[in-house]
Order: sequence, then structure tokens, then C-alpha cells
Amino acid sequence: MDHFELRNGVLHAEDVGLTAIAAAVGTPVYVYSRATLERHARVFAAGLAGVPDKHIAFAVKSNPNLAVLRLLAREGYGADVVSEGEMRRALAAGIPAADIVFSGVGKTKAELASALEEGIGQFNLESEEEGVELAVIAAAQDRQAVAALRVNPDVDAGTHSKISTGKADNKFGVAYDQAGAIYARLAALDGLTMRGLAVHIGSQITNLDPSRAAFIKMGALMRSIRSAGHLVSHMDLGGGLGVPYREGEELPGPAEYGAMVAEVTADWQATIMFEPGRVITGNAGVLLTEVIRVKPGANHPFVVVDAAMNDLVRPAMYDAWHDFAAVRPTGERITANIVGPICESSDTFAMARDIDAVQAGDLAIFRTAGAYGATMANTYNSRALVPEVMVDGAKWAVVAERIEPATILAAEHVPDWLESSTGSA
Ligand SMILES: *Cc1c(COP(=O)(O)O)cnc(C)c1O
Repeated sequence: MDHFELRNGVLHAEDVGLTAIAAAVGTPVYVYSRATLERHARVFAAGLAGVPDKHIAFAVKSNPNLAVLRLLAREGYGADVVSEGEMRRALAAGIPAADIVFSGVGKTKAELASALEEGIGQFNLESEEEGVELAVIAAAQDRQAVAALRVNPDVDAGTHSKISTGKADNKFGVAYDQAGAIYARLAALDGLTMRGLAVHIGSQITNLDPSRAAFIKMGALMRSIRSAGHLVSHMDLGGGLGVPYREGEELPGPAEYGAMVAEVTADWQATIMFEPGRVITGNAGVLLTEVIRVKPGANHPFVVVDAAMNDLVRPAMYDAWHDFAAVRPTGERITANIVGPICESSDTFAMARDIDAVQAGDLAIFRTAGAYGATMANTYNSRALVPEVMVDGAKWAVVAERIEPATILAAEHVPDWLESSTGSA
């Protein structure tokens, strides 16, 4: 459920007409609903009611906006970060360092050192080498690093190949059959407290069976590591729960996911950790855009909108579907291709889609754009970096400004040796 609905014929975000936001901020612009974010955060936590001892760390990469992080901090969420930049954001939003999990396959020595200085709660190690480096850095700082070992359970999450992370040939984690030995070696190092295992098999998971299979394998590994005499007090089950991108799509929700986890982990006697991203933010945001013009096509007209693949890359990168809706629908429908202005054929949001009829100058939205939307935006084709707005009832605020091409241009420099001579070729 979200709060982007028609009122008197105009799409609103909570109590604010999207026409008002477009008039004030321009388009394209991301619009987030505070009520939806809060609701998702609470529904996810409530779904885990059957898991008595838990820690929820929001996957910052899905939407790192400072206002979004602040809201989730107020809901008691920790953070799962994958870079120093994300860690700084989480800390700036008021998330306690102890509630931050540092994940990621390529943490640098500098990142490990600054995360240790900040007192980050848990490092999810992706290799034995990383654990050895972390132990050395911690010992040099006279600190104790708290860590979990990420394991690749070799389970196919059944999701898009580019967001699948738990198969044996994915780059994440250590091989399942070597994990016990690696854990034992890391546990023996000064400076490192090994306290758990971590797993994350992919994103936009729409069937709970692969997750269940992975968690059962992780439980078996936990028991064998414990029986070798090591502490395993924390089990991090990652994120990955999918969201409906199409109207009417039925997916397992937090309640079913939570019930499955509660059943599988009932006798684990561990703190169960979660790293939800998309399920919190996905349906809490839309991308608001204006139709530049409609041009004829061979089979269907092209609706050319002012949002493009640089603003929302998921369709180009993952063949993802985002529902499209007019802000002032007339009731008329057309079959059309929806494209952005970028000079690439991949800058296509939809082909031969049955949509609200729109014309030049009309406003429209792409739904379910709150996760992996603005965070993946770039300035390709020297376009502006897309701004973000958050709505709260009848209030709204710009929570990330549009960064104009001129600002980006001002950070570029032509070296003297290109200016001075007329060329010596
Ligand atoms: C991306 C990621 C998540 C969040 O995934 P969602 O599908 O957005 O829930 C959680 N943990 C790790 C390690 C990740 O890389």
C-alpha cells in the first residue's frame, strides 16, 4: 500500500498534488511519501514479531537520501552500508555506529580503518584476506573488530541475473564448504571477534523457497561451527524481499517472510539480523516527469518524457517494469512506447504498453521508484542530477536539490598545456 492516489482527478502524494510539486521544483523529480516509508518500516518490523531477538539494518544503497535515513533512524532502524560514503550518511542521519553493519566485497583498508574508528557494530567479511587485514588494522588501533563471515550458499534466488548474489560463481562471500575452516582461522586472530555468519542471496526475490533453502543451509553451518567450539551469536539473513512493480501483482510480504524466518530459526538461539532495502523504500517513491512530445512510431507512438535512463536506470539495466500513470488521467487509453531523451535505444521505459493517454505538457509518474532510483542516477548526456522531494501530509520539502549541468561543468578543468599551445601534432 502507498499514498500516491487520485484526488479530484489529480494524482497526489499524501495531501499534496503532484502538479504543485512539478510547478515549484520542475521535472523530472523523485517524490517520496513519509507516511508510506513509515508504514513499510513498521509493517516489516511487525512481520518479524515471531523472531524475538533481532536487529534490522536498512540497506542504505537502496535509497541513501539523508531525510529517508533520518526517518528510518527515528523508527529504530540500523543501517547496512557498503562504502565509507554510505557510513557517513548513516552517521549523519543519527544512526548509532553500533547499529551499523558494514558489508561489501571491496572494502578498502582506509574504509576498514575509518569504520573501526567510528565504532561500527559489525563488519560482514567477504573473504579470509579481508578478515586478516581487518584484524591487523584493529590490533594497530588497539581495538577489537566485531565481524561476521559472509557465506555464499550456492542457491539460485530466481531473480534477474544482475541482482542475484548467492550462486557459487557470484563474487560474494566465501564458499560454503570452506566457511567453517575460514571461520576457525579468523576466530583465532587478535583484534577480531568473530560472532556470526551472513548471507544475502539477491534482490527482488518473489518466491521464499530459495531464501528458506539458504537459511536452512546457514543453520547447519552455524551448528557445525559452534560444535567446533566457536561463538556464533549473530546470524545475518540479508535483504532481498521483492515488491510488486505491477498493479495487482501478488508477492509474499513481510508477514509471510517473517513467519518463514521464525520457523527456520526457532531453535537457533542467535540474534537474527536483517538488511531490507527495496521492501522499505520501493513503493514509497515515484518519479514525476513531463511529456515533452508524442511522436509517431512504426507500430505505436513514442511518448517522449523528460525523465531518462540517467534518472531511473532500472528498465535499461535490469529490463525492469515501472507502472506509468498520468497525473491528470482523462480515462482515455493508448498503446505507446515510453522513452527518454537520451541518445541510446536502451533509454526506453516501456514498449507497446497500454497507458493513460498523454500529450505534450502532461505530467505523469513512474511508480515504485523509491528504491534503486535516485541512488543510481547520474548525469549522462550532461543532464542535471535529478532532485528529490519528501511529502508529509500537506507539507513537502526538497530533500535533495537538482544539481545543474553548470555546477558539474564548474568542477572540470582544462589543463594549461591544452590551453597554451596551438598544437604540435
Ligand atoms: C543490496 C543488499 C541488500 C538489500 O537488498 P534489497 O533487495 O534492497 O532488500 C541487503 N544486503 C546486502 C549485503 C546487499 O548487498
